[in-house]
Amino acid sequence: MSAELELFDVTIIGGGPAGLYAAFYSGMRDMRTKLIEAKEELGGRMLIYPEKMIWDVGGVTPIRCDQLIRQLIEQARTFDPVIVLGQQIAGMERLPDGTMLVTSSTGERHHTRTLILALGYGVSKIARLELEGADRFEVTNLHYTVTDLESFRGKNVLLSGGGDTALDWAMELEPIAASVTVVHRRERFGGHEKNVRYVMEDSSIAVHTPYIIDQLHAEGDAIGAVTIARVDGQGAKTADTRRLEVDAVIVNHGQPSDFGAIAGWGMEMSDWSIPVNERMSSSLPGIFVAGDTADYPTKLRLIAGAFNDAALAVNGAKLYLEPQAAGMAYVSSHNARFNDKNKALKQSK
Ligand SMILES: Cc1cc2nc3c(=O)[nH]c(=O)nc-3n(C[C@H](O)[C@H](O)[C@H](O)COP(=O)(O)OP(=O)(O)OC[C@H]3O[C@@H](n4cnc5c(N)ncnc54)[C@H](O)[C@@H]3O)c2cc1C
Repeated sequence: MSAELELFDVTIIGGGPAGLYAAFYSGMRDMRTKLIEAKEELGGRMLIYPEKMIWDVGGVTPIRCDQLIRQLIEQARTFDPVIVLGQQIAGMERLPDGTMLVTSSTGERHHTRTLILALGYGVSKIARLELEGADRFEVTNLHYTVTDLESFRGKNVLLSGGGDTALDWAMELEPIAASVTVVHRRERFGGHEKNVRYVMEDSSIAVHTPYIIDQLHAEGDAIGAVTIARVDGQGAKTADTRRLEVDAVIVNHGQPSDFGAIAGWGMEMSDWSIPVNERMSSSLPGIFVAGDTADYPTKLRLIAGAFNDAALAVNGAKLYLEPQAAGMAYVSSHNARFNDKNKALKQSK
């Protein structure tokens, strides 16, 4: 083992809510912790909806998602874990002493006693509009994500997509934009029933299904109008087309993602998840799982569920390293790790 590689107790792969909370909880359990995220930014899937209000996290009154991300990052840094950005973990080698060497797709190596896989659904890539020349509008008014709702104020917005994210954005834009039109290639939307009913029956949102974007018409550097085409039962374009004047086009055709080379580690897993036992352990020793990646019968694929999984996975890692350790961390009031921090906080008040 090369001398320059520090050995960590826990290495968390993935910087979404599960990974971030695991980084905090692992520090609380006194373990030397590293977190590695493929993207250059922490937050995981929450980065898709930064301006959305989050209502369903225990003890947190409605909060903008970007604020919750900031708080999660601040909490994750409490015990000074090493945080590595921009490295997608691909390889894993088990060393004779049972520790693991993980490698990123660009060759960086990390040495660890345990791993917590908080991968979500894997590293995602944006599904771009498959129209020749569409990319030139990405600098003006063709968007693949909504990071600033206000920038659409008073505009005629056309949104292509039919899943939860597309419907969420359409509903958030409705009171801000001059008009919102949703185009979806299938007859029915795939989002939550309540949202589908609202968009179809109770909103001012114009809906065209089953239609696809067929042509983008330039007005200077930007898109000025869009031709949409009806598709038949086989998904083929028909001659039934409509031209819509637009100020902005948003495309949400999903974020195809996969676990990449991790799928080859020899763990029991499916395309979307990794089955775990009650300690959040995968089928490989020392490799734990948390958040949307984890699969068990009552799994809650929400931020709150990610937090719970993270604490369980960290406790699993602790007991794997120290079978005599307590099953869970002492609560904040009895945890010596907070003594100095509490003193400092009280003094600053
Ligand atoms: C539009 C939308 C709205 C939502 N609204 C809510 C809501 O209101 N309330 C709620 O509770 N939940 C909501 N959710 C669900 C919530 O976002 C997810 O449950 C949560 O993000 C899961 O967290 P996670 O940490 O498990 O995974 P993710 O957030 O997906 O994070 C996984 C991270 O792992 C990284 N990663 C993956 N593979 C690797 C690798 N090989 N190497 C390094 N890094 C890797 C990814 O880049 C990613 O950053 C919503 C989801 C969407 C899409």
